[in-house]
Amino acid sequence: MSETHVDPMWVQVSYLVAAVLFILALKSMSSPRTARTGVLIGAIGAALATGVLFFSGIKLANLALIVGFLVVGSVLGLVAARRVKMTAMPQLVALFNGVGGGAAALIAVVEYLVVDSDDLLFLIFTVATVIVGSIAFSGSIVTYLKLQELMTTRPVVIPLGKWITILVAVATVVGGVWLIVQPQEWLLWALLGLSLVFGVLFVLPVGGADVPIVISLLNAMTGLAVAASGYVLVSGTTAGGAGSGTDRPVRSGSANDVAIMLGFAGKVILVPGYGLAVAQAQSTLRELADLLAEKGIEVDYAIHPVAGRMPGHMNVLLAEANVPYEQLKEMDEINPEFSATDVVLVVGANDVVNPAARTDQTAPIYGMPILDVDAAQQIVFLKRSMRPGFAGIENEILFDPKTTLLFGDAKDSLTKVVAALKNV
Ligand code: NDP
Repeated sequence: MSETHVDPMWVQVSYLVAAVLFILALKSMSSPRTARTGVLIGAIGAALATGVLFFSGIKLANLALIVGFLVVGSVLGLVAARRVKMTAMPQLVALFNGVGGGAAALIAVVEYLVVDSDDLLFLIFTVATVIVGSIAFSGSIVTYLKLQELMTTRPVVIPLGKWITILVAVATVVGGVWLIVQPQEWLLWALLGLSLVFGVLFVLPVGGADVPIVISLLNAMTGLAVAASGYVLVSGTTAGGAGSGTDRPVRSGSANDVAIMLGFAGKVILVPGYGLAVAQAQSTLRELADLLAEKGIEVDYAIHPVAGRMPGHMNVLLAEANVPYEQLKEMDEINPEFSATDVVLVVGANDVVNPAARTDQTAPIYGMPILDVDAAQQIVFLKRSMRPGFAGIENEILFDPKTTLLFGDAKDSLTKVVAALKNV
């Protein structure tokens, strides 16, 4: 079992060195005489910052894919940069720039889909990154096509082009604000599409001689998008920010640790919540319950009336996985049983087990009856991070010494626990 991840000192020092290298690189690049050295210093800084991550102790998912794409990207970049004629340099810069903007926008999209956070700053930066990054991407591609003479280098004027551009710009801004106020997945895709279209409309009317100016502008936009995507990543991992307790120690365990706890229990209660629906892990949960029952362990599902995001959400979800109805126990029926339970496995639930509902008069869930999981001998939470649930408040049980956290997507974690349990 391990405590939450904190970067070792040498990793922190390496990041500091990389940051200093970036500053020196920018300084050197401001003069043609030292620009070459500046580029080299910047590249060393980037290599250091990226390389350290692999040895920092953070568990990286999809390591093979990450390394594979790093290799592919590096080889493509190296070959393109070596082969390009000096005269074709502007279009190569435009292309690389576009890729940078597009990557930033994609990071924001993926982070939005994975993090599922209502945090205001996170949403603002996500929207900014998607808009600016997408405009930089599609604008740079059109610039590339013009410079490479794959399309006319003259200004392209489309009928009512100015009005269409204004309309798309207004729709993009409205879509961005709407997404911040009312986060919805379809809006994110619409925003991405609108920004891409705006990028094209923005560059089409630009003529040959003005293209370098547009390149500079798009370059600056990519820089902004990449910086904003950094904020999206940071706030994504700490969304719920203040009071999320990430600096307080918690006990995390492996799937094997959890399998051992479950395998040696006499009575286990499973508490499903919203995260079970997000992960679509209902069948895997049932598989786990069946396996425990086969081992002679008493298993029940505790169903809280507002678990999930719609009335009866958990009943529907578990019925879908053919869990026998009699195994589902309502809150009033199951609550007296927690004190006689060895292990409670909380799968993607948070608010419905949060004791703040009993004690904290300022909490938005104060007064809501909860599942008394804190009465059990041991509690295991399956969740991806230290982020709070729907109500946005910290859950003290996560810091309880008898609690173990198994971090990860609920379906992945359950799959691993099932596999490990077969060997217990
Ligand atoms: P919560 O929203 O309190 O908590 C959900 C938990 O699931 C989070 O801690 C989250 O943590 C985790 N999670 C999300 N995705 C995953 C995943 N893929 N894998 C693993 N864990 C995941 O849910 P509860 O069910 O406990 O409570 C429901 C809340 O919703 C209550 O506050 C209720 O009032 C409210 N509500 C209920 C409605 C209903 O009709 N049922 C309607 C509207 C609101 P992490 O991000 O770290 O993974």
